[in-house]
Amino acid sequence: MLYEDPPAACWPIVYSPDYNITFVGLEKLHPFDAGKWGKVINFLKEEKLIADDLIVQAREATDEDLLVVHTRRYLNKLKWSFVVATITEIPPVAFLPNFVVQRKVLKPLRTQTGGTIMAGKLAVDRGWAINVGGGFHHCSSDKGGGFCVYADITLAIKFLFERVQGVSKATIIDLDAHQGNGHERDFMDDHRVYIMDVYNRYIYPGDGFAKRAIKRKVELEWGTEDTEYLQKVHTHVEGALNELKPDIIVYNAGTDILDGDPLGGLAVSPQGIVKRDEVVFKAARRRRIPILMVTSGGYQKRTARIIADSILNLHSLGLIDKELAASGAGNPKFLDVNMVSQRCRVKHPRCVFWREKSPQIFFPEFCNTGLLSSVGPSLCYSRSRRQLEGWSRSQACGLGLASLQKTRSRSAEQIGPWNFSKDEFEP
Ligand SMILES: [Zn+2]
Repeated sequence: MLYEDPPAACWPIVYSPDYNITFVGLEKLHPFDAGKWGKVINFLKEEKLIADDLIVQAREATDEDLLVVHTRRYLNKLKWSFVVATITEIPPVAFLPNFVVQRKVLKPLRTQTGGTIMAGKLAVDRGWAINVGGGFHHCSSDKGGGFCVYADITLAIKFLFERVQGVSKATIIDLDAHQGNGHERDFMDDHRVYIMDVYNRYIYPGDGFAKRAIKRKVELEWGTEDTEYLQKVHTHVEGALNELKPDIIVYNAGTDILDGDPLGGLAVSPQGIVKRDEVVFKAARRRRIPILMVTSGGYQKRTARIIADSILNLHSLGLIDKELAASGAGNPKFLDVNMVSQRCRVKHPRCVFWREKSPQIFFPEFCNTGLLSSVGPSLCYSRSRRQLEGWSRSQACGLGLASLQKTRSRSAEQIGPWNFSKDEFEP
């Protein structure tokens, strides 16, 4: 149900008005803006980036969905209001009847969790996806905490592993100010998942056991600022993705690294956060790895504006694009024929790129060689409607699959730009 295909015209941006927690002022007791998700969407609508019917409506995760990761015992515990009060850190919740807690607190969180699971599939299909909520990285299969009631990151990855062919390796890039001990506990001995975590070493949760699951651990000091922060993020994101190329990146993009955040204790500026997201998306897109972003922690009044600004920035740089998304070309397996004909200097008579005016060419083998990486996302992700799909391997043989086989083991840098000799394209 969560994996139903949304209309092709939609952006792979997932949201539902049900995300927002609003009831009798209780939300004001927690130091957060419990309506930040709706505000992000409103800013994006104001900027004319999206409209209501062009985003993917998140659906609530059912018990059956949650049981893919959670234990029945844990889900049963949530029927006690005081347990939910402890996990969400909203003490008065303990005194509410559980049906109210279910409807007003847990349903929004289950809907955000459904959103993350849906966005995982969308990211694989379209190259990228953003769940405007989610990112509950302190929750593991049998334990919640730090406002995180459902393990949406673990769920999204397990759903992909179990239900989507070709997804068997995931990398979590967790850049929330806090350590992501939930997914770390869940994937402790799971070699399919590579975890990179950058966090303030002195704050919650300080989970020493969970730290053992982190492959790339970057512990920050109090008050870390833009220059140092961005340099570390850049170095380690590149390092992590060079070490292992996953089938999906889950990017936990918490904004509680923001200067003045009462919980995060770091001092990154709004521009620094926008830049950080850019660094991560560039690294993912350049390598043609699908990326799922969730917004996680960060609940200051100005947080929603920063998240919206960051999404607008990603769009202006061509790192996310609806037209590509709708046509399927956001998928790294697609390439623009105009770009090929401009850059391919070999006019082989059998090369479909030259012979045919048809724009529809699908050429997955091509991308596996790493050739596209040398061109870079700004070129490959042209906004032209003429996208490539539907062509078989043999139809594309004019480009010389034989030589592609040969180059497969070489890196993009070694291959360089499109400067093959004619001989290399002989099939
Ligand atoms: Zn956090």
